[in-house]
Amino acid sequence: MASQSFWPVSHRDDDFWVCMSCLGEVFYRKVPMPDCPSCHGVSTYEGFTLEAVRDWGTEDLIARAVAAQEAAAAAQPVAESAAPVEAAD
Ligand SMILES: [Zn+2]
Repeated sequence: MASQSFWPVSHRDDDFWVCMSCLGEVFYRKVPMPDCPSCHGVSTYEGFTLEAVRDWGTEDLIARAVAAQEAAAAAQPVAESAAPVEAAD
C-alpha cells in the first residue's frame, strides 16, 4: 500500500481504534481514511482502551495495538524539553 491517510483522533480516552468489521486493523489515536485498508469498510472504527483490546482482542490485534502505541510514542517530538518559541508578529 502506497500512502495511507489518517484522521487524527486524540480527544478521547479510547486511544485504540479498531475496525469492527474485520477486527484485523488497529491504530493509535488515528483512524485510516477514507476507509479501512483491510476490508475497505467505511466508518467501521470504534475506540477502545488498551485494556479493552487486551480483553477481547486476538493475540495479533493486541500485538498490533502495542506496536502502534510504541510507534506513536517514538514519533512524538519531545515537547517538554523544547525551547520556548517567541511569537514573531
Ligand atoms: Zn476493516
